[in-house]
Amino acid sequence: MNNATEKKPHAILIPSPAQGHINPLFKLAKLLHLKGFHITFVNTEYNHQRLLKSRGSNAFDAFTDFNFETIPDGLTPMEGDDGDVTQDIVSVTISLRKNFHQFFGELLARLHESAIAGLVPPVTCFVSDCYMPFTIPAAEEYALPILLFCPTSASSFLSNLHFRVLVERGLIPLKGLHNFRLKDLPGFIRTTNPNDVMLEFFIEVAESIHRASGIVFNTFNELESDVLQVLYSMLPSLYTIGPLPSLLNQIGHNHLASLGSNLWKEDTKCLDWLESKELESVVYVNFGSFTVMTPEQLSEFAWGLANSKKSFLWIIRPDLVIGGLVVLSTEFLKEISDRGLIVSWCPQEKVLNHPSIGGFLTHCGWNSTTESICAGVPMLCWPFFADQPTNSRFICNEWEIGAEIDTNVKRDEVEKLVNELMVGEKGRQMKKKVMELKKKAEENTSLEGCSYMNLDKVIKDVLLKKF
Ligand code: UDP
Repeated sequence: MNNATEKKPHAILIPSPAQGHINPLFKLAKLLHLKGFHITFVNTEYNHQRLLKSRGSNAFDAFTDFNFETIPDGLTPMEGDDGDVTQDIVSVTISLRKNFHQFFGELLARLHESAIAGLVPPVTCFVSDCYMPFTIPAAEEYALPILLFCPTSASSFLSNLHFRVLVERGLIPLKGLHNFRLKDLPGFIRTTNPNDVMLEFFIEVAESIHRASGIVFNTFNELESDVLQVLYSMLPSLYTIGPLPSLLNQIGHNHLASLGSNLWKEDTKCLDWLESKELESVVYVNFGSFTVMTPEQLSEFAWGLANSKKSFLWIIRPDLVIGGLVVLSTEFLKEISDRGLIVSWCPQEKVLNHPSIGGFLTHCGWNSTTESICAGVPMLCWPFFADQPTNSRFICNEWEIGAEIDTNVKRDEVEKLVNELMVGEKGRQMKKKVMELKKKAEENTSLEGCSYMNLDKVIKDVLLKKF
């Protein structure tokens, strides 16, 4: 370690072990690296192996001051786990609550030894996914500041903060409600199980955040202003630093461009295919890393897209369909051969920013939502779980930049909504509104913008407090 490195503040960043949590925290890691921090980015061993497989085993060797460390996940592989799947969220959560404090403690002890040996600078601050609450006592043990990163929208996070009260008042778990959908609440509150692991976990998260030194959100003030007003009054050290894709572009990160965090290998041929298509003529279809659907739902989407007669790029993960087998009829494949492309994972931000993309059929993950806003692309929403129904509500009703497809998806509805989105009057209105939001996102992340200034402010107020 040279002198310059020795003097750097050292941030240890740890995401929850899921693609949609890793990607935005990785962006924040890059931003802090650009601001002069030595970075240690912690993935589970399982996800780190996937990352090495998708990016190439030496993809990260060239970077000094940007290191990767791993902790075990404490899980035994499930049936059908070939080392490259989205792990079961409930099993991960159970292990996280039981084992991760110890695993993380062991890593911190190792890093402490390395710092004494002069191999890395001493850790000076923690930046933790807020859904990894065991990091808070760990930071307290070392008497270091801890900044929480919230990977969801402020709106869905605010509803998480109400979970405890809803349970105490006997409203949740839901009793005696048959065929009832609290459709716009985050998925995990819609439970009838009094011992629901996910519900307990979200309550634990909501209660631990007050012990952190600060919390950052991947959002911007105008996007969720009402909700943020409430959150500012509840959480005094709250900073909005989003949308991260736009902020990273603003700060410029060319020399870090090859550092990626996708756990599946990206298919880049689809970008060449998009080159051959006309301006805003292609529907991009992607349901993220967790969503699964039945073979019947897959078939309804397939025929809805085919019957719309629009070009589409559809990302079908190998584990998208329940039961494991993706079967698309030869009749369908023949029908779409001149205008449809199906691949298993893509560089999403590049795709969304391609001029040929006219609309995004999405599951409304918060990253997909913010990436679509940054690219100025209107959406069709098919929310699956967690915060996605809340995001869909905001996309369709508050911001009016999308339309929702019924959970019980039918081909005729898909065909109709795709046409409305791509060539209808409603689609034109949504495009106009999403372009306005894109502009606001850019203003917020420009040199004088609130998100841009908040990044410097949180570094000074929180992360460098003990440096
Ligand atoms: N992603 C990608 N390529 C794909 C699918 C997804 O790069 O083919 C990225 C996407 O850009 C986003 C993340 O994976 O950053 C998915 O996060 P999101 O919150 O949208 O959904 P989740 O996967 O958590 O359900």
